[in-house]
Amino acid sequence: MQEFTHRVRESILPLSMASTLPGAFREWRFTERTEDHGRPCETCQLCGQECLRYHFEIGNELTDETLWVGSHCILKFDVAVLKDGMRLSLKDAKRRLIELTNAMQLKSCISALETLAAKEDNRILDGALDYYKRHSKLTPKYANVVFWRLKTNGIDYQPSFFKIELQRQQHIDDLEAMPTGRVHRFWSALTAAQRRKAIELGHAAPTEV
Ligand SMILES: [Zn+2]
Repeated sequence: MQEFTHRVRESILPLSMASTLPGAFREWRFTERTEDHGRPCETCQLCGQECLRYHFEIGNELTDETLWVGSHCILKFDVAVLKDGMRLSLKDAKRRLIELTNAMQLKSCISALETLAAKEDNRILDGALDYYKRHSKLTPKYANVVFWRLKTNGIDYQPSFFKIELQRQQHIDDLEAMPTGRVHRFWSALTAAQRRKAIELGHAAPTEV
């Protein structure tokens, strides 16, 4: 803990006007800039935490300095997150950072689908891309084909970022009729409730996901 504080102190004080940590943090705010590095390969420039996929930029209003940090540090050190010039409460700030992370995940799913659709002359994949752009979800049938083709083509993607549509009876029926091995292709994209539903419909959970 001592070293952690030391590290944070070393990172932030030289870039701030104030000479104490609480004073320094009051000069900083989240700039609304984010970056998805595609892999968990980055470091928080504030606390030194490694293996971050997403960076959030914070800026000092007085010195014009910036740092790329993890969302955890914005919340932990209560760095201001603004909306329409007003400072959000910690709870709303957290919600805002989650929203931004979700938006980056959605973008990475669409990008994987675009790469896939460009690689194969396949109407199903074009349809899946179009559907995802409109609904931010895949139907079970689309998910089956998409996950299979993404894997076959060696396209980098994060299965758990995808969301599956399972509200309409048609989609539930499709899931039920599907061989279990195909359901397993997109098992990691299913929510806990959707997995329970799949098991209820007669599918066994995969032995390892
Ligand atoms: Zn950090």
